[in-house]
Amino acid sequence: MKLVILDRDGVINEDSDAYIKSPEEWQPIAGSLEAIARLNQSGFRVVVATNQSGLGRGLFDMSALNAMHAKMHRALASVGGKVDAVFVCPHTPDEACSCRKPLPGLFEQIAKRYDIDLAHTPMVGDSHRDLAAGVAAGCTVILVRTGKGAATEKRDDLPAGTPVFDNLAAAVDFIATEPRL
Ligand SMILES: [Mg+2]
Ligand SMILES: [Zn+2]
Repeated sequence: MKLVILDRDGVINEDSDAYIKSPEEWQPIAGSLEAIARLNQSGFRVVVATNQSGLGRGLFDMSALNAMHAKMHRALASVGGKVDAVFVCPHTPDEACSCRKPLPGLFEQIAKRYDIDLAHTPMVGDSHRDLAAGVAAGCTVILVRTGKGAATEKRDDLPAGTPVFDNLAAAVDFIATEPRL
């Protein structure tokens, strides 16, 4: 089974420093949904791993999060794409959980659920936390410049050899043709 793990905010949908709190605020990045459909057509199952500390901070509740994801699934279906599951860390940094990226807990949940070795599993993210979590879990990490990605690219502590692409569509072109993945 071939799996790809995607961050959500700043990779699939536009990010906001004020958090994405409602389905109305959940707006796909141009081309991202079609890119997920192309992954599916290339034989990949796609899951999302996302920090949503806005839940723990009380900025929105589970029903709002479910409504955002229902919107995402509907929008994906309209272009022939599918996300199998969304793995969420709902905690704030203060809660010292093991699932909030940069810790690899969400990735470990994914590996267990799908019974896979993450060594050849690509992970696409826009923040340094995503890359750190992916590296800790043993994934092949990929950075996109959307969301926080342009700022992340300028950091001097990017994991060595991290491929960087303008957006998810360009990252998918790489993933779908890279025989190692
Ligand atoms: Mg992000
Ligand atoms: Zn957590």
